[in-house]
Amino acid sequence: MVEAVKKLFGTDGVRWIVDRTNPEFALRLAMAIASYFPNGARALVGRDGRVGNNSIYNIVMGGLIAGGSKVYDANLIPTPALQYLVKALGFDYGVVVTASHNPPEWVGVKLVLNDGIEAPPNVEREVEAIFFESRFRNVSWHEMRPVEKIDGAIDIYIKSVKERIDVDRIKMRKLKVVVDCANSVSALTTPRLLKELGIKTLTLNADISAPYRPYEPAEENLEDLMKVVKAVGADFGVAHDGDGDRAVFVDNNGNYVQGDVSAVVLTQYVAEKHPTLPKRVVTSIATSHLLLEKSLVSRGIEVIWTRVGFLHIARKIMELGGALSGFEDNGGFAYVIHQPVRDGTMSAALMVELLASSNTTLSQLVEDVPRPYMIRSKMSVSSREEGVLIVEELKKRYSGHRIVDIDGIRVFMDNVVFLVRPSGTEPIIRIFVEAWEKTEGEKMFNELVKQIEEIREGLRK
Ligand code: MG
Repeated sequence: MVEAVKKLFGTDGVRWIVDRTNPEFALRLAMAIASYFPNGARALVGRDGRVGNNSIYNIVMGGLIAGGSKVYDANLIPTPALQYLVKALGFDYGVVVTASHNPPEWVGVKLVLNDGIEAPPNVEREVEAIFFESRFRNVSWHEMRPVEKIDGAIDIYIKSVKERIDVDRIKMRKLKVVVDCANSVSALTTPRLLKELGIKTLTLNADISAPYRPYEPAEENLEDLMKVVKAVGADFGVAHDGDGDRAVFVDNNGNYVQGDVSAVVLTQYVAEKHPTLPKRVVTSIATSHLLLEKSLVSRGIEVIWTRVGFLHIARKIMELGGALSGFEDNGGFAYVIHQPVRDGTMSAALMVELLASSNTTLSQLVEDVPRPYMIRSKMSVSSREEGVLIVEELKKRYSGHRIVDIDGIRVFMDNVVFLVRPSGTEPIIRIFVEAWEKTEGEKMFNELVKQIEEIREGLRK
């Protein structure tokens, strides 16, 4: 077999700008996916709320049918709800037409296997090989199976979330929550769930159509949410991304909560709630080492590190046979006993249960998490290869220290830890320095930038 050298899949599925790419691309991608699976495979297909999906959703379904799959159409649905249903209802695979948090002109496709987790790299490479070599299965006319609409998908998913939380306890506390749905598919799940739990629920950006809030739940996009939470005296606010797998929180004072801090708060709660679960969490190397050292490891919770990309976290959780949680620092959090994938609505439900079970506020819980000083930065490189060479050279220069090199390098020094990692999607290298003392962090960062500039110059001579 000729190896596919070109890539379609990034860290999180395939993404492209809808009006700059021939729609034939979506058709070929869908045919390649269907051709990877056996003829007659049952595929659950859904999409997020972006307008650009209108032009390709049916094309993707058409490609899957032409390639031999039987398509079940869930239409508008958050990615985690689709992932749950693929596994729970025994589909052979799932496809979500979404570009997650990317701007609205982007579209994309996420491929989910029958275990509900995004396809691993070896499957992605196989689909890419079929695509680039045009090895499509074209089924004959009588094998082209009609699309079947799936009704009640959201009902099944919401029921599954409720089965994992203490509904009675939540109903006794009259909590107030503001949900920012990013004008996308979370509008179908989180507000409905919270209302069913007896929570006074206010929504922002709950209309699944333009005008939209930027799909990324970053602090600068959540000003309205922060203001409203404070103005109405809510217990917290929660904001989702475009496909609903992330949940970012705003505390009762209207302050944005970093994703790694909310993950710590939720994980500590899960550890108390389920003392028999394995005392471990799985996270990516881009999460703060010092933060977790102080707030989880000190409590006897082991931290397992993976490459960046939630599919690596989810697959590691499965390989290890479970964990308390899996998370990233961007609001992606998996409550593993529900499912090992990020799930924005489930995270919101868990936060509600946490607050209903304690006499504290989210701002107090956040304050109790000791946070190191952090610098997150990036530097441009001419190519990913140059980024890789820079990392190799840094490895030599810091070889006297403890190094972890599963994705870039993380170097541990006395009072400071740093990570340098070539981006998987852009010609940049990411730099992340953390320290308990600001001066030490800044000193390390400046030294690192100097070293990288020097190496980069040397490589270009
Ligand atoms: Mg997402």
